[in-house]
Amino acid sequence: MNSVTELKVKPNYIKQYKNKYPLITMDAVTNPDEPMEEGGIVHLVDKTHQFIAKGYYGKQNKGIGWILTLKKDEQIDGAFFKSKILTAVNKRQFFYKDEDTNAFRIFNGEGDGIGGLTIDYFDGFYLINWYSEGIYSFKDQVIDVLDELGGYQAIYEKKRFDTKGKYMDDDDFVKGVRGEFPIIVKENSISYAVYLNDGAMVGVFLDQRDVRKAIRDNYAQGKNVLNTFSYTGAFSVAAALGGADKTTSVDLAKRSKSKTIEQFSVNGIDYEAQNITVIDVFDYFRYAKRKNLKFDLVVLDPPSFARSKKRTFSSAKDYPDLIKDTIAITEKHGVIIASTNNATFGMKKFRTFIDKAFKEMNTTYKIVETFSLPADFQVNRNFPQGDYLKVVVIEKLK
Ligand code: SAH
Repeated sequence: MNSVTELKVKPNYIKQYKNKYPLITMDAVTNPDEPMEEGGIVHLVDKTHQFIAKGYYGKQNKGIGWILTLKKDEQIDGAFFKSKILTAVNKRQFFYKDEDTNAFRIFNGEGDGIGGLTIDYFDGFYLINWYSEGIYSFKDQVIDVLDELGGYQAIYEKKRFDTKGKYMDDDDFVKGVRGEFPIIVKENSISYAVYLNDGAMVGVFLDQRDVRKAIRDNYAQGKNVLNTFSYTGAFSVAAALGGADKTTSVDLAKRSKSKTIEQFSVNGIDYEAQNITVIDVFDYFRYAKRKNLKFDLVVLDPPSFARSKKRTFSSAKDYPDLIKDTIAITEKHGVIIASTNNATFGMKKFRTFIDKAFKEMNTTYKIVETFSLPADFQVNRNFPQGDYLKVVVIEKLK
């Protein structure tokens, strides 16, 4: 049995943990450098050793572990994992029953009571993301629960923590019958090719499901669509299926082109009638301005941080400029769908970016609707940073 390490919480942090804040941070405790084993159980205590909360030690970019319970006597064992995961699965019954969708998240980290762990379901395949070596030490307990649920073809995993310089993992296969990738999953009747054996990104980001549906159902018909930072072109596919006149997908990663062709193809869309361009988005803006190109619908979904040969982009700093560039090539009454997954700022701040951009471009806008994480990305109400996705649908008025 692992021994328990006591972490002493600084006085001004005690209240947040009593109020169920789930993340253990370096600055909240007086002895963060206590020798601890990844996956070891920790008790947060006050200076008189009074118990506050129990969690596990696991170094991540955003903390040194997660709280699992406020009950001192609750054991962190197989039964604990079973109860958390089955509760999460029960909350997703809507998705299991939905015949048009077979790709969704069944466990969302601290939103479902265990930070550092997510589990996605892709039509008979489970994909586990482990965000620290600490949570990875509970692998057997987690797999046991999935085994008990049964009915899967295979389990795959991504170790999203530093494995001592090497990501030499075979192909992320854990157990079951290996898949033949891509598998074609369905999302609101849209097909997406998914690879569970080829790096951290599998081909589609499940958290944008509602936005893709809205694009297809409400914003694409008859429109000339520009999809920037397009990755595999998932938004372009939704737009094309929604009756877009034409889509243009822009991403600087070379493989985005073949990936986008594949996503169009598995939906029976002639990719040759679409425009797929491998180029830096900022160079594309310049090109579009020079050629006087204008779009009716522009999707902006940049990574929080990106470094290319010429520049670094940080959404917390550069988003207003990104919107300004976009405004310049958007038709009057055109729509801009601005998205960010940057957890370091909230919706309020994001809206100030939008406002700033439109003011500086001397034009006006109307916010049509907003999106946040879909229902399967359960959020912990005591951990607002977990509610990272912000999507704003903006109409350019003049
Ligand atoms: N919008 C996509 C996900 C985007 S992931 C979707 O919904 O599926 C971020 C993408 O931005 C990556 O594919 C990356 O290659 C691309 N990217 C990063 N910096 C870029 C830049 N300066 N110009 C073009 N693409 C960029």
